[in-house]
Amino acid sequence: MTATLIRNQKRLAEQAESIQSQVQTIAIVKNDAYNFGLKDTFDAFYHAGIRAFATTNLKEAKRLRSFDSTVEVLLLDPCTAFEELKANSITLSLPSFEFYTKYKEQLAGLSVQLVFRNDLNRLGFTDGSDMLTVLADKKLNVNGIWTHFAYADDFESDRYQHEVANWREVLNTVKDYLPSLTYIHAQNSASYLREGLHKNHTHIRGGVILYGTRPYYMGLDESIARQTVEVSANVIEITDVPAGQNAGYSAAFSAEKQTRLAVIDIGYGNGLILSRKNYPVLINQQSYPIQVMMMSHLLVEVDETVSVGDKVMIYSDQLRFDWFTENGAGSFSQQMAAFNKETFTEIFIPYD
Ligand SMILES: *Cc1c(COP(=O)(O)O)cnc(C)c1O
Repeated sequence: MTATLIRNQKRLAEQAESIQSQVQTIAIVKNDAYNFGLKDTFDAFYHAGIRAFATTNLKEAKRLRSFDSTVEVLLLDPCTAFEELKANSITLSLPSFEFYTKYKEQLAGLSVQLVFRNDLNRLGFTDGSDMLTVLADKKLNVNGIWTHFAYADDFESDRYQHEVANWREVLNTVKDYLPSLTYIHAQNSASYLREGLHKNHTHIRGGVILYGTRPYYMGLDESIARQTVEVSANVIEITDVPAGQNAGYSAAFSAEKQTRLAVIDIGYGNGLILSRKNYPVLINQQSYPIQVMMMSHLLVEVDETVSVGDKVMIYSDQLRFDWFTENGAGSFSQQMAAFNKETFTEIFIPYD
């Protein structure tokens, strides 16, 4: 038997449509679309009405362009392959004023967007005044401006309010140019869900919410995000461990009492995030603790009702990525990006 990963493209399309029908969305499809698969995700999102896509690397940007010649393809990271960008009509995000100064000549005729670095301190211009210089450069085709909030899911501090205020100041500095821009965007899933589309913005930049996961828990009903991935495995053996004996490598589990362990055919080699072992699995709708995670196996403590051949749910509508995130297992992207899809039996549910 083999563990199974279901990719539900039908739900993915419905999920994206539920957002795109409320607000113009630039879909974030970095890292093979959060590991869902770039082409399948593109098709679902396009079907949902989304016409702008963004990723961090040129290879994926070129693949996006190969799927369709008309959509907006935005590269989020810096890149100096200017001829390739032009040939593929890819919009480049300018990472700094220095980058602009250095490559001014090569940038002519290329479509670009300006990035404000903000409190994330990753990439971007440090203030609006340098942006004015670039916006005034007639040789450049600036079609947008953006920033990224690092604290949109932080409800405990005022850091989010701080970065929003910084950004407003930048927008105010460049306000004369805003009417000429097609893309003015800052908000990820969390920022959009907590505040709706900000004034004077044209789009959100959606990630997790499009993939069926709530970016935070508090006050968000689970019906706003239907999970698009399901992971299950199988009980392949039952072992009874007498009190005082151990199981797993380096005695990972020590039986204090006689213990019935189910051996499950999934492990970190399939890309299960290590923290997943701290939370239960479901077998026949009952919850059981994972005692040991190995490369290809889990040892789960079970009772007499569990037998060889039973299905073991790892992620499902009841075992949601966002529940694990809320309980400290790591973000959706950490859980999702880790999957090694090659190691699974894959089931694909298409949108039509
Ligand atoms: C990943 C990413 C997003 C999407 O964020 P979510 O929290 O998944 O909605 C948006 N913008 C940028 C620049 C990103 O890197």
